[in-house]
Amino acid sequence: MLFSLRFQNVYFVMQELVKKFTLQENIDLSQYSTMRIGGRARYFYTAKDQTELIDFLNELHKENIKFIILGGGANCLFADEVFDGVVIRNRMNKLIVQENHINAESGVTIGVFNEECKKRGLSGLEMLMRVPGTIGGAVWNNAGAYGMEISRIVTGGKVWSRGEVQKVDQDFFEFTYRSSILKKTRDHVLLEADFEMKNIGKEEIAKKMEEIIQMRLEKEPQGLTCGSFFRNPPNNSAGRLLEEVGAKDLKIGDLEVAQKHANWLLNKGKATASDLIQLRDLMKSKVKERFGVELQEELDIISSSKQ
Ligand SMILES: Cc1cc2nc3c(=O)[nH]c(=O)nc-3n(C[C@H](O)[C@H](O)[C@H](O)COP(=O)(O)OP(=O)(O)OC[C@H]3O[C@@H](n4cnc5c(N)ncnc54)[C@H](O)[C@@H]3O)c2cc1C
Repeated sequence: MLFSLRFQNVYFVMQELVKKFTLQENIDLSQYSTMRIGGRARYFYTAKDQTELIDFLNELHKENIKFIILGGGANCLFADEVFDGVVIRNRMNKLIVQENHINAESGVTIGVFNEECKKRGLSGLEMLMRVPGTIGGAVWNNAGAYGMEISRIVTGGKVWSRGEVQKVDQDFFEFTYRSSILKKTRDHVLLEADFEMKNIGKEEIAKKMEEIIQMRLEKEPQGLTCGSFFRNPPNNSAGRLLEEVGAKDLKIGDLEVAQKHANWLLNKGKATASDLIQLRDLMKSKVKERFGVELQEELDIISSSKQ
């Protein structure tokens, strides 16, 4: 009885929210994943305006309704089911540059951020040239490459958590290798972030960016992918361990391990999230059996029960 009352109540609340915030219903989420894999969202909201997003988050919090933030979908995908809550696609894109300081809303893409840096000669995020995704996703994972991490340029930000908006400093994020407090607790939405960049001049930054692009074109497999699938274990390389256990020969359905890099998966057509979970488990068990190392995936596999 209690269950059905709660169910009915949520239904009516959601119908109100659908109208008030123009939510879409029953949306295919594979189109928002760089691997083109994923289930469906019961409700889907596109956030373009920060004030409206905060209002919406407050309503969801008040009614205890499950939600998840989706950036560029380059580091997460949804299980093959209906996500029984609201998927919030982050398209907030304000970017303010004052000398070498940048304030970016969390939906700004890494590409747009770096384009702005190129125009102004600002260095700090060029290691993520050609990486899809948003500032929110990059901070969540402390994204990095070529010896550099986003945590080195973040000076603070603004977060929403349980109905409260808070200005935070760098320490708040508790950055570690491919992790931050956003990932550890899943309790905060990053609304905007502040960065301190280094001005190295337009010519120099253009040269550095081009070098990164060339390195990525040479080393990275092309296609429907999420980039590196497993984190590197301490003092080790996930790609090397996987190569040694013959992972490049592995394939499930349309999902295969890239020939160019054993830590990258490619969707060659109609791969599903369950193919991905099976292949992940197979790769993990081979490495565990041979080297005793427990690989951990970087990709966030989202399901209704996990949130
Ligand atoms: C070709 C390719 C190359 C890549 N190369 C690299 C690389 O060199 N280095 C690297 O680190 N990564 C790399 N990646 C992974 C990925 O692109 C980055 O980590 C990117 O920053 C993810 O951002 P996103 O917006 O797509 O996150 P999403 O996949 O949309 O989200 C990832 C997680 O972050 C959470 N999240 C997103 N936004 C917010 C927010 N505002 N507040 C709270 N939580 C949020 C989501 O809920 C989800 O749990 C690569 C990916 C691809 C496809």
